[in-house]
Amino acid sequence: MKTLQLIARNRLALAGGIILILVVVLALITPLLPLKAPNATDPANKNAFFGESGYLLGSDHLGRDILSRLLWGTRVSLAIGFISAVIAAVVGAAIGIIAGYAGGRTDNLLMRAIDMIMGFPYILLALAIVAALGPGLMNALIAVAAVNVPFFARNIRGVTVGLAHKEFVDAARLAGMSHARIILFEILPNVVPVIVVAASTTVGWMILETAGLSFLGLGSQPPDSDLGSMLGLAKDSLISDPHVSYPPGLMILIIVMSINLLGDGIRDALDPRLRSGALSRPMAATTVERKAPAPEPRESGVLTLTDIETQFHVGKRVFKAVNEVSLHVAPGECLGLIGESGSGKSVTALSVMGLVASPPGVITGGSARYKDEELIGADYGKLRSLRGDRVAYIFQDPLATLHPLYKVGDQLIEAIKVHHGIGRGEARKRAIQLLKDVRIPNAESRIDTYPHEMSGGMRQRVGIAMALANDPDVIIADEPTTALDVTVQAQILSLLSDLRKSRGLAIIFITHDFGVVAQLCDRAAVMYAGRIVEEGTTDQILNNPRHPYTARLMACVPELGEGKRRLEAIPGLPPAVDKLPEGCAFADRCHKVQADCRSGEIPLAKVGNHRARCLHPVERQATEAAQ
Ligand code: ADP
Ligand code: MG
Repeated sequence: MKTLQLIARNRLALAGGIILILVVVLALITPLLPLKAPNATDPANKNAFFGESGYLLGSDHLGRDILSRLLWGTRVSLAIGFISAVIAAVVGAAIGIIAGYAGGRTDNLLMRAIDMIMGFPYILLALAIVAALGPGLMNALIAVAAVNVPFFARNIRGVTVGLAHKEFVDAARLAGMSHARIILFEILPNVVPVIVVAASTTVGWMILETAGLSFLGLGSQPPDSDLGSMLGLAKDSLISDPHVSYPPGLMILIIVMSINLLGDGIRDALDPRLRSGALSRPMAATTVERKAPAPEPRESGVLTLTDIETQFHVGKRVFKAVNEVSLHVAPGECLGLIGESGSGKSVTALSVMGLVASPPGVITGGSARYKDEELIGADYGKLRSLRGDRVAYIFQDPLATLHPLYKVGDQLIEAIKVHHGIGRGEARKRAIQLLKDVRIPNAESRIDTYPHEMSGGMRQRVGIAMALANDPDVIIADEPTTALDVTVQAQILSLLSDLRKSRGLAIIFITHDFGVVAQLCDRAAVMYAGRIVEEGTTDQILNNPRHPYTARLMACVPELGEGKRRLEAIPGLPPAVDKLPEGCAFADRCHKVQADCRSGEIPLAKVGNHRARCLHPVERQATEAAQ
């Protein structure tokens, strides 16, 4: 359903689809139309012009009705095109899936055979096949299907090879499924979209190829005709009566063009990456559509966010991923940003440097200042010169940030050279020093390894080295240690902590781990459903949480030496950010909820010594009262 809607949203594909449906319907109802017999000759009215002597589209050199022949011919051409596409797709996909799944010798044998077929120019091959089988429509169909099999086989094999070693296939194998079942139920469903796309973009070609064979007299035999043979006959009187060639020529053009437009639309709609956004590539920086002028910062810091608002516009739905978020960090300071998965932490971080993919991302308001420079809506050149140089990111998944085909050293050197016009030798020295800084053993030899030769912890440290490459003022670390084991995590945290002290680095540290916040951060902010719900010093947040959400989150953390205690999970789920309730977004899961929580705007107001977005905060604890 969604796929149909997406295709319909693409105007060209829609036009192609409608035209194709018209042509197909016309071809289907041809036998019911009051047409002259397609093969009835009328020697008195040869080569009649359009509309002459009762021939709407004229007549050919034997006086046959072109309109009738055109519709009957279209039927044949469409049928042959579609049937050969289906045959080529089924045979090609079967070969491709078997070769890709089996691998090894089977793969080699099948693919070399396919390569041999591909070694011939394919029109030549089609001609050879028809020559061997003899002219005729059936043989033309076989020839066209055969020459297209390699195309499908190669495509599908490529996709299957990628799937055959995925974890879900291994899991199916471990579960004892037979090869046939794995192919049918695990591989095939993932390959079908590729088959459909390949088929929809090649049907047009196949119709053209069959028409080509018929044009040369090797396809449909007289008196029957398809569009190709009509064109072939018309060429004999091209000088004296060119109009005879117009209808079949135009019809071929219309069919092939509408199929190709529709095929492109299907391809775009079936690609899941294109599904979520509009059918276009993300832009270099996030789109900014302000409803109000940029607000003045209320706090000062090396990086100050004020009322940042970032949304995802998907069709008619608006996801308010980040809603009026204000944060700041001073040099040498570390701010922890805590929240459940999906609370908007990453989108907040990415909004700063315009890294949220657009479409569908849109920054609809707020300001982000690096020192005195406004980043939201800044031109791309400025963002680019600051990205990675003054404000650097460390992402969660180091394997996704490092290019698999380049040595880590070369990637580091590139990161240095992009922002500093220094020579390669010097950049290399600096890269080695950086690797030493992040405590990678044998930095001199490690610099020449590929990312896959390193352990997860080392890759993450390379990611950190890269972020440090240009001695930035601010590092935004998005769950950099979530994928690591505790010992490596501890090393990385102490590394960041040292850098903060020695270089005056400001850090925004995104995590859902309170232990990490306690260890590293001076201040912390808690996010829920796209908003900051509580902020204060680490001590205030951890020891005196006032927002029920923070308090409940804290209660989920086990503590060493605390003895036996029930760990209370928070019931329910966070609200969807495209359907946020009025009032407090946490109300439905809150144990202290009251009627006034469910209406109006609840401000982030002073509660005790820090700030929380709550009307009925948790009582302050004894420790704070004593302060
Ligand atoms: P986290 O706090 O775990 O880092 P994110 O910042 O990644 O969470 O996501 C915030 C919200 O934005 C989530 O509710 C997510 O569903 C939504 N979101 C992220 N990307 C998209 C997108 N392309 N389209 C729609 N919603 C999105
Ligand atoms: Mg995230």
